[in-house]
Amino acid sequence: MISFEHFKFSDDLRKSIERLGYQSPTKIQEESIPLILAGRDMLGESETGSGKTLAFGSGVIENTARGKGLQALILTPTRELAEQVKVSLCKLAYHKQLKITAIYGGVSFGPQFRSLKSADIVVATPGRFKDHLQRGTVNTSNVSILVLDEADRMLDMGFIDDIEMIINSCPNRKQTLFFSATIPPQIEKLSKRYLKRPIKVSTRKHVDSKKLKQGYFDVPRSLKFSLLLHLLRDTSSKLAMVFCNTRRTTDVVIKHLKIYKVDAVALHGGFPQNKRTEAIENFKEGKIHVLVCTDVAARGIHVDNISHIYNYDIPSNPIDYVHRIGRTARAGEEGQVINLLSEEDHDNFSRILCEYRFSINKLKKPYVERVVFCSHRTSSSKKPRMR
Ligand code: ADP
Ligand code: MG
Repeated sequence: MISFEHFKFSDDLRKSIERLGYQSPTKIQEESIPLILAGRDMLGESETGSGKTLAFGSGVIENTARGKGLQALILTPTRELAEQVKVSLCKLAYHKQLKITAIYGGVSFGPQFRSLKSADIVVATPGRFKDHLQRGTVNTSNVSILVLDEADRMLDMGFIDDIEMIINSCPNRKQTLFFSATIPPQIEKLSKRYLKRPIKVSTRKHVDSKKLKQGYFDVPRSLKFSLLLHLLRDTSSKLAMVFCNTRRTTDVVIKHLKIYKVDAVALHGGFPQNKRTEAIENFKEGKIHVLVCTDVAARGIHVDNISHIYNYDIPSNPIDYVHRIGRTARAGEEGQVINLLSEEDHDNFSRILCEYRFSINKLKKPYVERVVFCSHRTSSSKKPRMR
């Protein structure tokens, strides 16, 4: 095992990492940091929670100086991730004077115009950054390092045109890094358009079945909610995430959980940004124990102490499954993933199992009462009524 000394970081960065208390680099950090510091373009693939932010972040911090215009641009698929990556970079720049700003939609432009004028590093979602480019309120002519975090998602989420425009606005001579937990072959192919003689570093390993237990319940669609309610009440979880495929289902689930006084909050792309920020902050701080969300929260978000992931709906894309489950069992902790399957999920779920060869056990169905939703609020101590 090597130590951070191995990388010959500047004193500023070395001290900032020391301050974070990390003992040694993770595998992806060990393998990618020397290449990044040597200025190579690269594709980095490693499992969720393996420290990819520090891997590209150290290159970004080392290659940026105060007051020389926008030199590093990091693109992320979601606003929450942009904010999180910005916070991580600020920690890595603790001993270096740098201006780091996050730029994303759903909030007003005014403060962003001001912060973009003096930013050395920007972490942004593609849509809003493109808006700034079109308005001429950001100058990318000094960008020397461009990072796509969660690259596969960025390229398959319909951001491709925005990203292309952003890449083309930057100088040709720059370093480009793609990082993700999954780099499917089509993304690798696509990356050849943007990366120069890239090196692929992959340290992805299969899910550690000792740390991450996965299981499923077969349940009629009409009983899914009752089962979820039962599991949330019955299991001694730290924090739990409940994933739904659509905003509509998320809204329905949160509404009903609230009727039963479950300590839950919802997050999806249909909420205004202040609500989204508030939801994720309350959840991160442990003020709320259950986050009901769409895949907007599946990418890159790191929250300590998530012990349970419930897939209320099974995602249609196996890659989304990998990202959802990657929210738990992070940084050596244990976690459980529970899939609630009804008839229509079977084919899709088999496909996911096939593709990633997960070992998933059928769980013994707990006794679930059929819940009747009451128009009036029930008290938290009151059991669901039987039909
Ligand atoms: P990823 O992007 O690979 O999903 P993150 O960059 O979000 O992972 O990192 C996950 C967690 O691991 C964060 O809390 C981060 O601070 C922590 N971490 C990063 N590098 C190290 C390290 N070398 N040692 C210990 N913890 C680390
Ligand atoms: Mg990440």
